[in-house]
Amino acid sequence: MLRETAKAEKRRGLQRLIYNRDLCKGCYLCLNLCPSQVIVKSKERNRHDAYPIAFEESSDRTCTGCGICSMICPDYAIRIAG
Ligand code: SF4
Ligand code: SF4
Repeated sequence: MLRETAKAEKRRGLQRLIYNRDLCKGCYLCLNLCPSQVIVKSKERNRHDAYPIAFEESSDRTCTGCGICSMICPDYAIRIAG
């Protein structure tokens, strides 16, 4: 299911992924590096007129909470909270 919300949260153990789509400039660094391939391009623009990312999980592709997307994002659009 494609998530287009401004704030996506995924609980994986003790970690929580928090995403602000309005901070995303659509560079897709995270999309290209996500080992689980759960990051996709959104079809709707954000307030900066960019196509931000969204998260799409399925039965065989789920976010593991590895934190790579959070570490690589130059705009701090994704962060891992405990
Ligand atoms: S790395 Fe950050 S700015 Fe780039 S697409 Fe991902 S969330 Fe958006
Ligand atoms: S935490 Fe890891 S698995 Fe989850 S979306 Fe980010 S890069 Fe992908």
